Parts: sequence; structure tokens; C-alpha cells
Amino acid sequence: MKWPGVFLLCSAAAFAQQENLVALKAARLFDGKASSLTAPGLVVVSGSRIVQVGGMPPASAKVIDLGDATLLPVFMDAHTHLSFNAQEFTPAGRSIAQGRTTAEFTLQAAENARKTLLAGFTTVRDLGASDYIDVGLRNAIQRGLTAGPRILSAVRGLGTAGGHCDPTTGYRPGFLPEPGPQQGVANSPDEFRAAVRYMVKAGADVIKVCATGGVLSLNNDVDSSQLTQAELNALVDESHAKGRKAAAHAHGDEGARRAILAGIDSIEHGSFLKEETLDLMKQRGTRFVPTLHALDSIMEGLKQGVQMDPRNVAKARKAGDSVMATFRRAVEKGVVIAFGTDAGVGAHGTNAREFRLMVQAGMPPIQALKSATSVDAELFGIAAETGTLESGKLADIVAVPGDPLADITSTERVFFVMKEGVIHRNDRK
Ligand SMILES: [Zn+2]
Ligand SMILES: [Zn+2]
Repeated sequence: MKWPGVFLLCSAAAFAQQENLVALKAARLFDGKASSLTAPGLVVVSGSRIVQVGGMPPASAKVIDLGDATLLPVFMDAHTHLSFNAQEFTPAGRSIAQGRTTAEFTLQAAENARKTLLAGFTTVRDLGASDYIDVGLRNAIQRGLTAGPRILSAVRGLGTAGGHCDPTTGYRPGFLPEPGPQQGVANSPDEFRAAVRYMVKAGADVIKVCATGGVLSLNNDVDSSQLTQAELNALVDESHAKGRKAAAHAHGDEGARRAILAGIDSIEHGSFLKEETLDLMKQRGTRFVPTLHALDSIMEGLKQGVQMDPRNVAKARKAGDSVMATFRRAVEKGVVIAFGTDAGVGAHGTNAREFRLMVQAGMPPIQALKSATSVDAELFGIAAETGTLESGKLADIVAVPGDPLADITSTERVFFVMKEGVIHRNDRK
């Protein structure tokens, strides 16, 4: 009695879905992994899934013709901070931010998430937030309370006392409560294991560690290493034991090298990586997330007269002088480059500027497109579900005007965004 009923229900659902076929047509298509575009482009969607790529649209499908455009898998960003905003990194901005409530930051983060989605990014990693805003935002988006990308949350970046991920760095002792592993600050291998466990307990999908100094913290050298080899080994081992990837913020070479030897999954920034370290990354398959957008945004802001703390300016110039050359060498050597921007340092919703910076620094446009689609999907551990336009995958599809291989800046003019079959943007209606 039971099984025929189930069968009938399934058949009815399948029939209803077939009736709701949507065929997206455009002049060209990039599937996320091929070495060229195909023309013309066609993707057929049923519900939240892709059911056909290429060929003729089924007679029953509703056809949306996007014209002289290119269909692509939606973009991903391996490095964002949806709850941070660029203006908070100036001395004036820091003091204004101290008066804001968590609710206000959360509402701002929701707006940042919406901008990110409409710019064509439907999956991002949030590599460090405060007050669990990233976890709350991720869950609210999943529940449909607000529109935004899928978020893989880190909860907090982990680091050592006085390091880049110690939120009290730069303030006089006693001014703020001294943080411990639950707040992301650890000082031994065992404490790093405890910190990873706390982050996972709090909802972390990915673990982030600050392996070296950073640009926007107040009192450490940008390239100093901040964890011992034993601490990094413990952190990566515990992350992997919990089924989480681990990402290391690392500008300096020594800190990055230790993280790579520990088995870290990605190096974020990598401004001062030496030849041997890039070779080690290639050998080990460690992903490089260069976040060119972040330093470019800081330098652009300085040109426009943004007043930053002189300590931050000096560190930004030092890293900025080095990162493009390091990135170029990484591309030449064939290190796998994943796409990430550090959005929050630059403006949210401008994530696609990273493409033009990558191409300016010598990366072939097709490789830049792969980095934000299939390469990121693999790094995030979600390649079975999304990251390419293939039958059976989630219907995560964007369209950009013209041919992005001829003009990579067309990625900054996304005009159509579909996430899991739902159209969030279509400017060519
Ligand atoms: Zn960082
Ligand atoms: Zn960051």
C-alpha cells in the first residue's frame, strides 16, 4: 500500500518539475572547466537543478534569451568578511564602529550579502567575523529570511596573543578583556586544538588561522610568523579531523611555509612568498588565494585621500609592492590559484574587480574564470554540487555582457543571477 503511493507522489512531482523547465539562451557559454567558450550557450533548468547544457531547448521550456552575453557558473569568493566594512579601518572609522551595536553590524552585513549575491557571487567563505554574525547571517540566508550567497563561516580567525587575529592587539593591556581559545587566541598546540573545537562547536564550516602579521592590525610586522610549526600542525590536524578545510592568512614567507608543511588547504594573501615556497605549494597542491583586490583597494583609497593609521599605510605599501610579482610567479609556476578578494577591506559587491587584477598581472582570462568557479568549488569541498554548468548540478548561473575572454571587465557587469533556480537579478527583461 505504501510504495505505490510514494511512487505516485514522485511521478507527480517529476511531472510538475518538467512543466517548469526554464531554458537560458545566450551567445556564449563557459562551463567552468573547459579551455574555451562554447557558442551558442544554452542551459535548461528544472527547479533548483540544471537538467541540460547545450543542444535545443525542450518544446515545453520557457525560454529566456539573454542575447549577446555569456552564461557562466556563478562566481565564488574564497575570502570575504561580510560583517566588516572598509571605512572601519581608518582611525575615525574605528572609533565610530565602537559605538555600533551587533544588531547594526548584522543589518549592514545582510546588505553586504545582498550586494555580493547581485554581483554574481552565490557562494563565499567568510574568514572571520565578530559576535557570530557570519553564522547568524548564513543561517538566515539558508532559511530564506534575507537574500545572499551561501556562506561557509569561519566564526573567528585564530591566532596567537598579540598577533594579527588577536582583536585586542594595539590596545593598552586591560582596556579589553584578554581573549582565549574561545575568542580565537591560543598559545600552544593544545590551545589551538581547543580553539578549533570551539569554532566547530559555534558553527564553523572552515577554520581560519593568522599565520603571519597582517596589514590592518596595529602593532605587528606584516611578514612576521606568528605560530610555531607544532601549533600549525595541531591546528590543521584538528581541522581535518573535524572534516573542515583550513585557510591560513599569510603574507610572510616563513609563516606560510610552516602552514604549507602542516598541510594547510589554502594560503591567503601570500605577498612575500619565495620561489621555494611557491614550488612547495605546487608540489603539495596547496591553493593560493591572492586577494589582490584588498591591497588595490587600500592603495586606491590612499590616493583618494582616505586617512589611515601610518602603521597600516607602511604595511600596505610593503605588501602591495610585492604581491603582484609573487602572484605572477605563482601563475608562471602553475600553482593552483583560487579566487578570493578579502571583501570588507575593499567594497562589498565589487568582488569581480579581482578578475581584472589577475589578468593585468598575467593570468589568462579563462584561468581567472576557472579560479572563481570550478577551482573555488573544489577548495570549498562543494564541487559535486556546484561550480560548473553540468546536468545534475545546482542551477547557479550568471550572465555577463559580451565575451569575458575579450574583455575581462565584463565580469564586473553581471546582469543576470540565478541561485538554485531562483532568479535574483535580470536586467534584460
Ligand atoms: Zn588576512
Ligand atoms: Zn581577510
